[in-house]
Amino acid sequence: MNAAAKRGKKTIKRPPIPAAIQSKLLIENRHACCVCQKVRVQIHHIDGDPKNNELANLAALCVDHHDMASMQLGLTKKLKPNEVRTYKKEWEARCAADMKALSRDRENFFVTLYKNPPRIREQFSRLPDSVRRAAVVDVARAIAGEEKDKLKEGGFNFQMLPRRNDMTLACLASAEKGQFWPEWLPRVQGHPKDPDYPTDLSPPNGMTAFHGFDLYCQILIRVLTAASVPVPLEQILSLGNAQLMNTWAGSLVSFRERAIGKGVTVPSLDHSRPTASLQFRHRQGKKLLRTRMELRTMYVFSDTAAMNLRSSRTCGIGVFGGADVGSADADITLSIVPLLIGMGGFGQSDASGWSWSLR
Ligand SMILES: [Zn+2]
Repeated sequence: MNAAAKRGKKTIKRPPIPAAIQSKLLIENRHACCVCQKVRVQIHHIDGDPKNNELANLAALCVDHHDMASMQLGLTKKLKPNEVRTYKKEWEARCAADMKALSRDRENFFVTLYKNPPRIREQFSRLPDSVRRAAVVDVARAIAGEEKDKLKEGGFNFQMLPRRNDMTLACLASAEKGQFWPEWLPRVQGHPKDPDYPTDLSPPNGMTAFHGFDLYCQILIRVLTAASVPVPLEQILSLGNAQLMNTWAGSLVSFRERAIGKGVTVPSLDHSRPTASLQFRHRQGKKLLRTRMELRTMYVFSDTAAMNLRSSRTCGIGVFGGADVGSADADITLSIVPLLIGMGGFGQSDASGWSWSLR
């Protein structure tokens, strides 16, 4: 057998890296080389065994560092397996910390535009007791630490936001118990289609119930994202193909995008326009990437919120529903079930402030 035939045989034996592992590696490394952070990476088998597709054995490397890690130079490689492991560990830890900070920022806004209580409850009810309790402790600690930032932004504080006050503490206590409706919140008339969703703003309890419930939904979201850090939408988009994207279906996703919400109406028109859809658009070379979200207009926060949802920069958290390749072949449509959408973050929630961007 000649050398070419041997190589051919070897190539056939090499099992492909499963899509789920590939996409996990790419996102955990923010699509960048773990040594030099250059984007456009190849996947390297650290132990040199192409059949070992365990996540721990794979590293994202740029072409140059891939060469250095693969080619033998005298008796040793220029970039040794243990060095690659160290780079991988350090870079992935940095990416994980950034991802957490980014999501914190995107769920921490000044104004709620939309909340989806049934889907928030659905996600919340899936948390195992111990996970939920640990997450509540994390959130309580984080809120205490954010107090200073909020005082600085006091001018925007016209709406209930999680802060270290009695109502936030009561929300945290209810979340800790796994309650879907906080027992201390006064009951007022709810929406005909969702009696738990307060719509009656009349005194004495209307405003308290309406804003208190809004606050509670925000706290539940923070508990969810403390339990499982959402993947930034731009990271899913950077995967570039629907098969890799779909391995994240069902995961929490964070976003900050300009909304195009042509059909978004005021909540009072709910009976005539029960649903609307929101879209984000991205061009990636010749490809058009669309992200769609279905909204139930009864959960749009207010008339002003509806206006903002039609065209403004929004941020929030949702559940990624998957990606479809369109008829134009190059186009991909992603879907997100929105849990909470708002406006304004506390820090650098814009992706341009980070080293990641769409390729
Ligand atoms: Zn590199």
